[in-house]
Amino acid sequence: MKENLKKVHVKTYGCQMNVYDSEKMVDLLKPHGFESVDTPNEADVVIFNTCHIREKAEQKLYSDLGRVRPLKQEKDLLIGVAGCVAQAEGDEIIRQAPYVDMVFGPQTYHRLPELITKLYRQKEELKESTNLNKSQKRKLRSVVDTDFPVESKFDLLPQTQESRTSAFLSIQEGCDNFCTFCVVPYTRGSEYSRPVTEIVKEAKHLAEMGAKEITLLGQNVNAYHGESPTEPSKEWNLGQLIFEVGKINGIERIRYTTSHPLDMPTELYEAHRDVPALMPFLHLPVQSGSNSILKMMNRQHTAKDYLEVIEKLRKYRPDIAFSSDFIVGFPGESDQDHQDTLSLIKAVEYSQAYSFKYSQRPGTPAAIMEQQIPEEIKVVRLAELQALISEQQLKFNQTFKDKTLKVLVDKTGKKDGQLSGRSEYMQSVYFDGPEEIQGTMCDIKIEHTFTNSLKGLISQTQQTIL
Ligand code: SF4
Repeated sequence: MKENLKKVHVKTYGCQMNVYDSEKMVDLLKPHGFESVDTPNEADVVIFNTCHIREKAEQKLYSDLGRVRPLKQEKDLLIGVAGCVAQAEGDEIIRQAPYVDMVFGPQTYHRLPELITKLYRQKEELKESTNLNKSQKRKLRSVVDTDFPVESKFDLLPQTQESRTSAFLSIQEGCDNFCTFCVVPYTRGSEYSRPVTEIVKEAKHLAEMGAKEITLLGQNVNAYHGESPTEPSKEWNLGQLIFEVGKINGIERIRYTTSHPLDMPTELYEAHRDVPALMPFLHLPVQSGSNSILKMMNRQHTAKDYLEVIEKLRKYRPDIAFSSDFIVGFPGESDQDHQDTLSLIKAVEYSQAYSFKYSQRPGTPAAIMEQQIPEEIKVVRLAELQALISEQQLKFNQTFKDKTLKVLVDKTGKKDGQLSGRSEYMQSVYFDGPEEIQGTMCDIKIEHTFTNSLKGLISQTQQTIL
């Protein structure tokens, strides 16, 4: 690797899985003399870790690429594109943005140090060779690695040396569900679950590094079925795994995401009842409340099935709060289908939710379905749905007025002397306090409630401890 390449800037788009992957890219490069920097201007290597779920993220990639391009004239800069857009588009990225040096997918980023070395070797070769034709030159200018390699990426990723109060831990990757709007099965491949022993080892390491909260990640996380630590011929499900992670000293909070309502093993319900560290909040996407749209989406469940899962979870953990994703304006969505979605939202009463207008993702079955919904209808339906969710979110937050919440303090707020953290129910909570309490669990008495956040004071008892 080139001696003077010492600074890397990784920009992350999309989901927590990408955040985890970006952190691992930095961890991979550290032994090769790299440090992470906050801006492309300071960097020798800039990597865009992309998301393919929404159209806008892709557009944003190309505009961000255009923005760093001039830096190449100022210095010896390497530009890389990683993640799901890289996996899906491969060489096309180099065609559209020929100044990009490397393109690599989510399954090959563990080869990043080798890719950089290879790229520099090629660039040297390019400088020295005088008799190459155009296509040979083009080949030496960039590297594209979008394989689905036989080696397990997870076996080759280093353990992080960064201390984080709240850490992500990838336990499962890929998806076999093939929802018709989703690119994940094509970009991340089929489902793979890491063995329990490996996950527990990483969780213990994260706890030793200071993590108090661990979020177990997977594209279809509750379909987890990893090798048992005691009987290698058997598999453990997510519930069993959570019981094990819940025993680790120092881990005070466990969360998992992203779930699918189809995979709810009994042990997972039991974990919600019996593992104190498992938080009473679950992001359980339903996407639509209409059975015909759910069928067109290939979600393999009905609205009733979903509501039954919610009801059962509430029996096991009565205070559990829910969030979901909603896609508005999926092809063929009628006014009635939209009303069915609103009815489902009213039945569940969410504490928060993410909602998006449907966008055609190239290569997915829904992209070529007839009856695409006009943009103006999507806009109206989205506004109606979001107004309902906001109403529910505010109502949920208002129930905490004058109550005390346990908040894991993880950053400073926007105002001087302000800190912020997350409640057990994933609400953002703001309060004034000394910076030293970042990384600790604090009791906060809630004084003001808003749609997207809560504001409070450090409780009297907590002040005595401080
Ligand atoms: S379950 Fe999730 S990741 Fe899998 S195809 Fe459906 S939306 Fe995509």
